[in-house]
Amino acid sequence: MGRDLGSSCRQCRREGEKLFLKGSRCYTHKCAIERREYAPGQHGAKRPKLSNFGLQLREKQKVKRIYGLLERQFRKYFNEAANTKGVTGTILLQKLERRLDNVMYQMGFATSRSEGRQIVSHGFVYVNDRNVNIASFQVKEHDEVELRFKNTGLKNVKENLEATQGRVVPAWLNVDKDHYKGKIVRLPQREDITYPVNEQLIVELYSR
Ligand code: SF4
Repeated sequence: MGRDLGSSCRQCRREGEKLFLKGSRCYTHKCAIERREYAPGQHGAKRPKLSNFGLQLREKQKVKRIYGLLERQFRKYFNEAANTKGVTGTILLQKLERRLDNVMYQMGFATSRSEGRQIVSHGFVYVNDRNVNIASFQVKEHDEVELRFKNTGLKNVKENLEATQGRVVPAWLNVDKDHYKGKIVRLPQREDITYPVNEQLIVELYSR
């Protein structure tokens, strides 16, 4: 599956906030946005006042970048959310959170969602005893996930667990870090999504 390969730090600078795309580096003084909190490019330092459309577009781009998705993939999530009973913006965020690469990140087995994607695509992840190597796989309530290693992978995941030990695991997930396992206690709710996002702007953008 394709993904946005633009510079991660550049994407944060474009959105004007930390999107935590680079793992441990994001928590250090090396974070680009702490050193240059203006947009990239020749005119980046002059942030223009955004129109309504501009605000909606930036909010959509931000969320798309947080989860490392291309426009087509993001739009597919939106269409599915719009066709599901309930509040479209909340369902959209829930669907994004339920991706298996995000679950690896939230459980602390990966320092970023892109690293979560690598762990999944390398075949280390089992869901309910079945190997799943699709990063977009949607976890369900009561699913059990486990990481299994042969010759590779374990050292990296151990390092990641150390790097992420101060991070709070969301209440919808349960993790047994000693045994590289976890459980989906319940589906994520709106209050479990803690990064600043106004999903209504995304709904308005796609409803134009
Ligand atoms: Fe964004 Fe992380 Fe780069 Fe900082 S270090 S600009 S949070 S990707």
